Amino acid sequence: MSVQASVREITHFIGGEQVAGTSGRFADVFDPSSGEVQARLALASVEDVTRAIDDAEAAQPGWAAQNPQKRARVLMKFVELVNRDMDELAALLTSEHGKTIADSKGDIQRGLEVIEVSIGAPHLLKGEYSDSVGTGIDTYSMRQPLGVVAGITPFNFPAMIPLWKAGPAIAAGNAFILKPSERDPSVPMRLAELWLEAGLPTGIFNVVNGDKVAVDALLHDDRVKAVGFVGSSDIAQYIYETAAQQGKRAQCFGGAKNHMVIMPDADLDQVADALIGAGYGSAGERCMAISVAVPVGQDVADALVAKLVPRVQALKVGLPSDATVDYGPLVSKAALERVEEYIEIGVQEGATALVDGRGFTLEGYENGYYIGGTLFDHVTSEMRIYDEEIFGPVLMIARADTYEEALQLTNDHQYGNGAAIYTRDGDTARDFAARVQAGMIGVNVPIPVPIAYHTFGGWKRSGFGDLNQHGADGFRFYTKTKTVTSRWPSGIKDGASFVIPTMN
Ligand code: NAD
Repeated sequence: MSVQASVREITHFIGGEQVAGTSGRFADVFDPSSGEVQARLALASVEDVTRAIDDAEAAQPGWAAQNPQKRARVLMKFVELVNRDMDELAALLTSEHGKTIADSKGDIQRGLEVIEVSIGAPHLLKGEYSDSVGTGIDTYSMRQPLGVVAGITPFNFPAMIPLWKAGPAIAAGNAFILKPSERDPSVPMRLAELWLEAGLPTGIFNVVNGDKVAVDALLHDDRVKAVGFVGSSDIAQYIYETAAQQGKRAQCFGGAKNHMVIMPDADLDQVADALIGAGYGSAGERCMAISVAVPVGQDVADALVAKLVPRVQALKVGLPSDATVDYGPLVSKAALERVEEYIEIGVQEGATALVDGRGFTLEGYENGYYIGGTLFDHVTSEMRIYDEEIFGPVLMIARADTYEEALQLTNDHQYGNGAAIYTRDGDTARDFAARVQAGMIGVNVPIPVPIAYHTFGGWKRSGFGDLNQHGADGFRFYTKTKTVTSRWPSGIKDGASFVIPTMN
């Protein structure tokens, strides 16, 4: 689609101001509701990224020198400002992403909750102290910021994930450079303005918009000490490996295919409610969506199918600004084509399409990226639609005859972000939580996204590197520990020692 001359331009936010950039390269930003171009986005050059790193590097020591409580006050003010502008931010987010307004507010709110926890930086940064570890000797540790750090984030939570990374990084005294998704960059740019209004010094929160060129520039600059990434698994692995080769810290979270095991004693009405919300909410574009239901026993599966089919057929798909819809459009034409292609693959592979969402159009918005809900039954582990992440409103049923079979199926999958079990039996729930190979587990909870003061992270191909996002791990990731052993002259005995000191 050609770019109109009047279209809004989205630039970069470097050193406290909007910066046009030097690359001369642009990407279209679409309105997924209508399929129309609504803005054009400057794609950063290596020089633009270098400029952001220069500014961040210059600003960081002054920010780190402020005491953590003063830094925390800026975060407090930021929370207040984001809440003040919540309606505007949610509308902006919806206009580029396509999720409903209520869901956009949830996206922003879950990000703010990590900022709220990061206000506890004075406590979270405290080190440890051991008195008299030897005669006249004390040992203490401190957490120090890394310097300039980066976050590279996906389209599906354009407020939450940047804030998950920025909160602990900034509160700990780092300067932060965000490379958000090209699909929905406007909220991150507004957040940059709000950080400044909250009193954050210029250069501490920067946004470089762009593609692989910008990401590679961040990865190859020695001054960027840590990279936090969230996105698809192949890119997560690439960023993890490249960052490690460059001697950087990296935590890179990838794709998902979250299973829900349904035991024969589960309340099937509750299960159906949970699957409809967790499978189709936000058009399935959530890394914690449930995409595979695993009923244990053919009777359970048949009963579940009977409950789900009319619910999926009745899903209300429409304009995301309409408060009555269940979900809006997918983010892009490419996403729509990809989901449609997977549905076709499923049909070709022999899965039973109980409901096929293809061919859905919204009157007056025929070029929008809408698709109806799809429900597959009799999906097996050899199928591509089972193995690969679809990231759309497609729920599949993979039947198991026993609990052990259901657990094995979940554990054998390449992804291990989240998993859930529905049961009334405490023993089974406990066994599942202990043995399932995934990072975040729900017991009668379909989307077990941990609260901000716990940590978030997946296993297997859903997460590369150690340490999770937010909670205490967020602070560990964006700080380094220094341990000091001290003795004063009055405690020092004369004479050199050539033997390693021990506790003997
Ligand atoms: P994506 O991998 O396409 O993009 C993520 C980021 O990587 C973007 O900023 C993008 O510009 C950048 N990028 C893309 N290609 C690149 C390349 N070749 N080299 C360097 N950088 C590149 O992901 P997306 O489509 O924006 O987001 C959806 C994916 O994110 C899904 O797979 C979803 O499961 C995953 N996700 C995971 C989590 C989690 O916590 N595990 C959370 C949210 C989303």
